[in-house]
Amino acid sequence: MAQPFALPPLPFAEGALAPVISAQTLGFHYGKHHKTYVDNLNKLVAGTEFEGQSLEAIIKATAGKADKSGIFNNAAQTWNHTFYWNSLKPNGGGPASGALAQKIDAAFGSYDKFKSEFANAAVTQFGSGWAWLVVDAGALKLVKTGNAENPISKGQTPLLTIDVWEHAYYLDYQNRRPDHVNAIIEKLLNWDFAAENLRKA
Ligand code: MN
Repeated sequence: MAQPFALPPLPFAEGALAPVISAQTLGFHYGKHHKTYVDNLNKLVAGTEFEGQSLEAIIKATAGKADKSGIFNNAAQTWNHTFYWNSLKPNGGGPASGALAQKIDAAFGSYDKFKSEFANAAVTQFGSGWAWLVVDAGALKLVKTGNAENPISKGQTPLLTIDVWEHAYYLDYQNRRPDHVNAIIEKLLNWDFAAENLRKA
């Protein structure tokens, strides 16, 4: 993605994930939250050493650096949200198929175990953050990250993510994060996107 960074189009209509994620939640989440991260990032990198760099390069260069936290947070949140939209699709969810299903069984024992471990990672992330299915040194793993933190700065390859910031679910589920997370896993996960990420890993 070249600078200035643009807000990528959503891969589905704003109402397409209802009733799991309402059009109202998507409208705010994409049109306000995601857009603000992109706009802030463009302002923060203008005239700095990061001008002209790719989003991934900026995330890796600023991760863990306290004096670059503003750039890191907005760059990682820009990346994380684009990845999140692609991790979802209408009529998705349920078990994976093909090579990915075999890898899930090998890593977690069964789809049902994977499902409960992914939900557990998403529910137990304390405060704002993300739950991720990643490839780490060739093996599938579930990880959770706080705030804007992102697995690519740790050398892991994300396959799917779930946003567990309250803005992702509060309008639809209020405090019921587990209900939201289970509905995403059962009805929206985009295994085609995960398989594409696995091929590139
Ligand atoms: Mn979000």
